[in-house]
Amino acid sequence: MRQRLEADEARLSPFAARSCTSRGRRAAEEPSPLRTAYQRDRDRILHTKAFRRLKHKTQVFIAPLQDHFVTRLTHTLEVAQVARTITRALNLNEDLAEAAALGHDIGHGPFGHAGEEALAECLPEGFRHNYQSVRVLDKLENGGRGLNLTFEVLDAVEKSSKAREDIFAEGWGVPATLEGQVVKAADAIAYVNHDILDAIRAGLLRESDLPGSARRVLGRSHSERLNALICDIVEASWAATGAAEAGEPPVIRFSQEVAAVANELREFMFQRVYLYDATRREAERGKLVVQFLFRYFVANPKGISPDFSLAGDPVERRAADFVSGMTDRYAIRLGQEFGCAEAFDWRA
Ligand code: MG
Repeated sequence: MRQRLEADEARLSPFAARSCTSRGRRAAEEPSPLRTAYQRDRDRILHTKAFRRLKHKTQVFIAPLQDHFVTRLTHTLEVAQVARTITRALNLNEDLAEAAALGHDIGHGPFGHAGEEALAECLPEGFRHNYQSVRVLDKLENGGRGLNLTFEVLDAVEKSSKAREDIFAEGWGVPATLEGQVVKAADAIAYVNHDILDAIRAGLLRESDLPGSARRVLGRSHSERLNALICDIVEASWAATGAAEAGEPPVIRFSQEVAAVANELREFMFQRVYLYDATRREAERGKLVVQFLFRYFVANPKGISPDFSLAGDPVERRAADFVSGMTDRYAIRLGQEFGCAEAFDWRA
């Protein structure tokens, strides 16, 4: 069965990553009889406890009580869907994109980027969610042995993070595969769009507040914007299919016009939503809870779960691994139990 699936990959673009020519896993292992290496990676990620915890982790709005807000889990599923649509359209490897998309945010701490900032201030080596995602997948999961994923999946996860100035800025490195580049773009396409809906839901924005360029070029509804961004990236990256004349090595990109509009829309979201005072105030509280818990577990290392930390690591690293694995609500509950003032009256 696996050999048939691997043979099917021969029809993919010459620029696609093929599972049978993967750079492989840290430790060699018997291949699955039923699945390609990337399909196996996707399933391993899906079955982790860290993946399940994404359902109670913040995307933008902290620990939302209303059911329709996006969480890290629904964000992750949307990224996977957008990435699959683009890779399928470009005849790239859908399984690799899906695996990397499902794992890309698995290292996010509680309270979204607030939790990330909090831990970055606590650790001398800093803390970045993309590096933590690789750490969770490669070291912490599976009882501290890691999942032994392929190089291409871990590379795409590590390099999925974006700098503020441009979706394709190379601050965190360029993914080694086109599928990795697709996941990086799919992440931005998904979050800009669902965060607009959440911001409207939260009363921070009206549709008519969006920049004129976005309304004109991308459309006036959620589905129009999503469709416009996805169709544009497929068209502008068509060389990735291998169908075009030989020329420059293909890259995943938007057209110039849409790239400018997408970056403008993203910057608008930074100013109006991500860095908005009320959002920041909630985030500030989340940050204090995370730092309280970090200090608590450094002082009381016996409380650190051996399931989410490595015994030989320094206590600060173990505390950070444990706290960053927590869901928003678990962090709030423990904060209350240990007497952290900011953890009380969360919805006051
Ligand atoms: Mg993401």
